[in-house]
Amino acid sequence: MLSEWEKLAREAATKNEAYESYLLRLTEAEVTTRTANAIASRIRAAGFPVVKDLDTFDFSAVASLPKQKVLEMSRGAWVEEHSNCCLIGNAGTGKTHLAIALGLAVCRLGRRVKFVTAAGLVTQLEEAQQQHRLERVLSQLDRVDLLVIDELGYLSFSRSGAELLFQVFADRYERRSVLVTSNLAFSEWGSVFQGDRMTAALLDRLTHRCEIFEMNGESYRFRESMKTKKHKDPKKAN
Ligand code: ADP
Ligand code: MG
Repeated sequence: MLSEWEKLAREAATKNEAYESYLLRLTEAEVTTRTANAIASRIRAAGFPVVKDLDTFDFSAVASLPKQKVLEMSRGAWVEEHSNCCLIGNAGTGKTHLAIALGLAVCRLGRRVKFVTAAGLVTQLEEAQQQHRLERVLSQLDRVDLLVIDELGYLSFSRSGAELLFQVFADRYERRSVLVTSNLAFSEWGSVFQGDRMTAALLDRLTHRCEIFEMNGESYRFRESMKTKKHKDPKKAN
């Protein structure tokens, strides 16, 4: 309002605009700026490793992925409903890309999002526990509407680490959303969580209300690098 009022007031004077109308335009400008600032700060707070959006995602590269369903999820109703999402598939198939893009879309709706890797989260929780500030870290996580946990399955956890991660899932169940990406099929999650009982209990909660996308196929990274190689050296590629 401070930066716009003089300009808008001059315009209003030349157009002989009613005071109410001038005031409306001025407050609208303020609200627009505040909304944009809030979204920018939500995106910063989410801690995405890079910014990847849906418009740069090539759906034709992942035949198993239902494009319409993914686009619908970018409208965020699932986060309002506290349901979850799992992206399961081998390396390089765009799971992290899609997880960031969906997280960004949810930020743009004004929601709080946090992006972590599974290993990073477990380390953070273990450190917090050692320093007697676990409650604080858990309550910070609790304020987040969508927790994106990337790369579950590349590293396995200690028993206590797995229990801490389990606690996060259990706390969020039916109250807040989780998006998990993993290179492991659900049947293999026991190897990460140590113990079939905990794995079963976790999967039960996670998948109760959950959109599951299988993203298996050839690595996009690998395919792109092959294309570049062919381009540089057409003889070798044949
Ligand atoms: P994953 O997490 O499944 O291992 P990434 O999301 O990190 O894979 O994808 C690897 C790289 O390939 C990233 O740079 C990503 O942007 C790109 N990529 C993967 N799949 C696609 C796709 N379908 N369309 C566009 N870029 C993609
Ligand atoms: Mg990844």
